[in-house]
Amino acid sequence: MLLITCSNRFYDGQTSEVVEFSALGKIQKGILLVDLADELIILGRDGWIHSLDPKPPKPICQRIENETFTAASAGEMRNRLRREFRPDYEVVSTTNFLVIQSCGRGERWPKVFEQAHRSFISYMTKRGVKIRNGNFPMVAIIFPDESVMRHEFDRLHIDVGRVAGLYSVNTNRVMTHEGTRTSSVMATVRHEAAHQSAFNSGAHSRINDTPRWITEGIGQMFEPAAMTDPRGASHLAERVNQESLRYLRQNVSATGSGRFVQTAITLVSNDMMFKDEKHINEAYAVAWGLMFYLAERHPKAFGQLLNKTASRRPFQPYQHRERMVDFEQIVDMHTVEFSRKTLRFLEAL
Ligand SMILES: [Zn+2]
Repeated sequence: MLLITCSNRFYDGQTSEVVEFSALGKIQKGILLVDLADELIILGRDGWIHSLDPKPPKPICQRIENETFTAASAGEMRNRLRREFRPDYEVVSTTNFLVIQSCGRGERWPKVFEQAHRSFISYMTKRGVKIRNGNFPMVAIIFPDESVMRHEFDRLHIDVGRVAGLYSVNTNRVMTHEGTRTSSVMATVRHEAAHQSAFNSGAHSRINDTPRWITEGIGQMFEPAAMTDPRGASHLAERVNQESLRYLRQNVSATGSGRFVQTAITLVSNDMMFKDEKHINEAYAVAWGLMFYLAERHPKAFGQLLNKTASRRPFQPYQHRERMVDFEQIVDMHTVEFSRKTLRFLEAL
């Protein structure tokens, strides 16, 4: 589950000025990315992306002359988070994360996130994906149970159905909860952690329009436990998302190869299936199949596709035709041919 709220419209009022602004009841500094009559988009020093309505009653947003933007340091972020979550939570720092969890929970969650990130970076680097150091420490919050997590979603106006966790692009946080640590909950955590790693390492950009089949295909790819195991997933079978494969076998390829090919064409050109409850499961499963085949059999093209989508101009919608043309140029074949090959690969698993 990936929560994006501001990437699908055209923004031509792009700036890069340092501003002081008010959001969530706090005065803070940030960089004004987009300045339009009906919307301001500001990147805060803590890595949040705020979308503010400048119409009356106006939010406070004043330009600051001669000041350069600096991201909050890990120490500064840790202190802020301690204030935000005290007294029941502790903040545990790792190399790449600030993990907020109920007091006395030990090192288990910090290790899960740190290991997931390391595995992700290693996997991407091997396939030529351009990786950079993140600008902000990554924040992962583990609430004690589902109802406390839902309370936080309400506070942040996050409106989602029943989920075990999510990564929100705007807050740059992964949020999940303790409780039933079933294998499916842990798969969700690895999926969300992969989103967070991707958006903080430059594999995706938080301010451009990345096709959902690519972001969700990657999320699905990192669900199998072996994908984040320090020993690595040396066997193909360990890298397979069995749940997605089962879904494809039962619901998509069972009805003939035409359905898989048609869904693949739709996903490459637009994100509509991810917004439709009736088609969302199929969208996730086919997205996984396409990205997994690409990563396994065309690793160079896999890297090129991620580098291409991450380096597009910020805040520009990615038109259907352009998505298809870019993809076919990178894989050097028609989407129909690519999806038929994907299906043959998946059927042999
Ligand atoms: Zn997702």
